[in-house]
Amino acid sequence: MALLQEAAGPRTFNRGRVCLAQRRVASYEVTENELRGKVLNRHGKPQEVFLSTDVDGLSCECECTAFWSNGICKHIVALGLAFLGARPPQEEPAAEAASKAERPRTPKAVEAWLEAHQVTHARRESLSVVLPLLPSGFRTSQVVSELGHLPVTAVLDGSLDLSRRVQGTLQQSLLWEAAWKWLDMEARRVRRGLEHEQERARLPRPPLTDARLEPWRQVLERERERVRAHAVPRLLSGRSTVTFHERPLRLYVEEPRRLSGAVGKPEGFVPKMRVSVDPRALLEGRAGLWCWCTPDEAEAHCVHALSALDTLLDSLSAPEEAARNARLAELLFVEPGRQLLGAIEKVAAVPLPSFEAPDSASRIAFRLEGLEQRDPRLQPYLQRRRKKGGFSTGSLVR
Ligand SMILES: [Zn+2]
Ligand SMILES: [Zn+2]
Repeated sequence: MALLQEAAGPRTFNRGRVCLAQRRVASYEVTENELRGKVLNRHGKPQEVFLSTDVDGLSCECECTAFWSNGICKHIVALGLAFLGARPPQEEPAAEAASKAERPRTPKAVEAWLEAHQVTHARRESLSVVLPLLPSGFRTSQVVSELGHLPVTAVLDGSLDLSRRVQGTLQQSLLWEAAWKWLDMEARRVRRGLEHEQERARLPRPPLTDARLEPWRQVLERERERVRAHAVPRLLSGRSTVTFHERPLRLYVEEPRRLSGAVGKPEGFVPKMRVSVDPRALLEGRAGLWCWCTPDEAEAHCVHALSALDTLLDSLSAPEEAARNARLAELLFVEPGRQLLGAIEKVAAVPLPSFEAPDSASRIAFRLEGLEQRDPRLQPYLQRRRKKGGFSTGSLVR
């Protein structure tokens, strides 16, 4: 409840309470650790709402526009409150104990688990991702300073000798359990990401807010295909943020910061992955995608890059991004043409080159064409000497 209240803020939380009081939570069901339900909007249309109180805080989703702009909405609050009002109290520990017993113990079994759940990329995620999952009594400073360079899987597959590197059996088991919790959550994000991907493939492409961006969309789709060969999609809870820099033109995509239930957890230490995109480079067919997780790689192909591309593709059709999309279209497709025209005006006084042998009957002259179509080409024309003097308009040499 406190978690829901913190995530929603007082205003949305109150609206959620009203929503529940108006009996707008039509139905809900609990599957695994998720809560799914239908909550009626003010027009009586059911909204699909998903909610899960992970150990890392709250994961939630709703179809309404408030959710997409704020990452939370009253429908989520209403569903959560409806569930909290009816939940039998001993349900959760039982489910957790069951999953605990099934944890693979040998390096080989861990490997198989990662493969089966399509989360092998966890081998490259820093152990510090588990920090928000550790109880407040845990000595987190050690994880940050000494173990932060290790992957999260090091705790599980034996590559880190827990008994020698972490003091106290309680601390060891807390760290081990937190790493598994993170993997469980990541596996679920992947599961939902794959579902979402299939769903999206079935639906027609939504229209762009700015039709000029069609070439950019095609480039993003092409990049997505390239990265998809190496990485799995994940459905993140909450929205990624896109930062737009004009000079040099860059798009920076950061994954949402996870909400945490407890106060005072060192979330500041959790590395946020940032993906940088150079749209001009990508449009010109050069490498233009980088991620903090693999700074040395020329072209990112990690899970973060894939999520970033999905975020950018979605934003092309999002009404709330219309202004930014229009500016991007200007910078990508209008401004270069304008600069080119400016440069041409400067040299307009200078005649275009022509190649002519003295007294010859013809010459080759070049004309700049296709400016209106923003596809400028220098075209060669064969011109013949006229009897009256000067040269004919000429015919295009192919
Ligand atoms: Zn909603
Ligand atoms: Zn990455």
